[in-house]
Amino acid sequence: MSQLINGKQISQQIRDELKEEVRRLKEEGKNACLAVVQVGNDPASTVYVNNKKKACAYIGIESRSYELPEDIKEDELVALVEDLNADAAVNGILVQLPLPAHINEDRIIRTISPDKDVDGFHPVSVGRLWIGEKGFLSCTPAGIIQLLKRSGIEIEGKECVVVGRSNIVGKPMAALLLRENGTVTVAHSRTADLKAVTKRADILIVAIGKKRFITSEYIKEGAVVIDVGMHRDENNHLCGDVDFDDVKPHTSAITPVPGGVGPMTIAMLMDNCVETMRTQEERS
Ligand code: NAP
Repeated sequence: MSQLINGKQISQQIRDELKEEVRRLKEEGKNACLAVVQVGNDPASTVYVNNKKKACAYIGIESRSYELPEDIKEDELVALVEDLNADAAVNGILVQLPLPAHINEDRIIRTISPDKDVDGFHPVSVGRLWIGEKGFLSCTPAGIIQLLKRSGIEIEGKECVVVGRSNIVGKPMAALLLRENGTVTVAHSRTADLKAVTKRADILIVAIGKKRFITSEYIKEGAVVIDVGMHRDENNHLCGDVDFDDVKPHTSAITPVPGGVGPMTIAMLMDNCVETMRTQEERS
């Protein structure tokens, strides 16, 4: 029987733990405020931003909204981020991506102070992750580690294969699995014989952005399969990068889409926000 990894339940558990921790930290006089910056009014971004603000309200931290016009100049956005960096009342800064094409996303990410980089995208945060220093973790991969741990799945010593090498999922995922003492392989679009590589995996993490690409032919019997993909199928239903119905019978555990990895990203963003309060605790 394959275990269904319940991201909805686990993310709720994490939010409740954070809510309790925030209550305790507030009693000690600590506070957190997340600045959420959205450029333009892309409907998908608005949904994400609203969910992040709701999650802040749930765990008891303040969020401040900055809604900027689609045609804002890059320098104006840089100036806002610099102001937020300098504002002692703001602990975390989140700029919702993607940004409009005329704005250089990398420049904006690099402008955010690494001490307020709750998305974990700044090169300093990425460097800290790879050398094993404390810092903000990229939220989706950090959520996957929590899914595995809280489902009782051991990572140490396991063959872990990550399919995809994006900066927001694949690469930080590989770093985190390595930190947990997994033996890690990263596959990508130039990998020769992808099936041979994925069939070695005890834990297979798929983040390629292709609807139901991974079928049972890619799976070792009894593997754990984590599906990061998020798509709408021909019937407008959500589905992942993994062909769930075909793959599930061959796994020991698997994440569904929706209700697997998806809900974990915001939970781990909240964890990064609370981390800014924990650090205040250490400093005081
Ligand atoms: P991405 O930036 O498009 O990267 C896709 C990666 O997959 C690339 O490294 C690419 O290789 C590799 N790839 C593409 N086709 C392949 C193939 N046929 N065989 C092997 N590798 C292949 O995507 P992403 O941002 O990492 O996102 C991946 C998926 O996760 C998307 O569906 C996205 O919507 C979803 N996502 C979900 C969450 C969540 O919270 N649930 C968060 C982030 C992303 P190359 O590098 O060689 O091009």
